[in-house]
Amino acid sequence: MGIISSASGSSCWRGLDYYKSKKIRDIKKISDVEYTSIVSGTKEYNVYLNLEKPRKSTCNCPLANGKRIICKHIVATYFSVIPESAKEFEDEQNRLQEEYEEYQENEYKNAIKFINKMSKEKLVEELIHIFDYAPEWIYDDFIKRNDIEG
Ligand SMILES: [Zn+2]
Repeated sequence: MGIISSASGSSCWRGLDYYKSKKIRDIKKISDVEYTSIVSGTKEYNVYLNLEKPRKSTCNCPLANGKRIICKHIVATYFSVIPESAKEFEDEQNRLQEEYEEYQENEYKNAIKFINKMSKEKLVEELIHIFDYAPEWIYDDFIKRNDIEG
C-alpha cells in the first residue's frame, strides 16, 4: 500500500493544496525511504514520512497524532519528496472525473431515448409520480409555464 492509497480522498486533495502553495519546508532525508519535514498549516507540524511502510508515517497534528492516520501534512510531504506523484494523482483524478461525466452523459441520453419510446399512459403516470415526490416548485413551475388555472 502506498501513501495515496492509505490516505482519505480529502487528505489527498488538501495535501495537494498544501504542496502547491509550498507549505512544506526543511525536508530532510533520513534514509532512502524516510524523510522528515515541517508543514505549516493552522500551526507548524512535524512530519515523519516512511515510503516503505506508509502507516508508520507520523504527524503531530490533532488528526494524526498518535494514530495510524495519513493526514494532509504527510501527503503534502510525500508530494514534495516525489513531485511526479502529485502530477500522477491529479491526472488520475481528472481521468476519473472525465469518465464519470461521460457515464452521466450517456445515462442522460439513454433516459431521453427511453422517454421517447414511452406510451402516453406511462408518461402521465410518471409525471404524476414526479409531482408527488419532487420539490413543490417543480409542480408550481409546471402550472405556471402551462398557464393552468385552478
Ligand atoms: Zn498532520
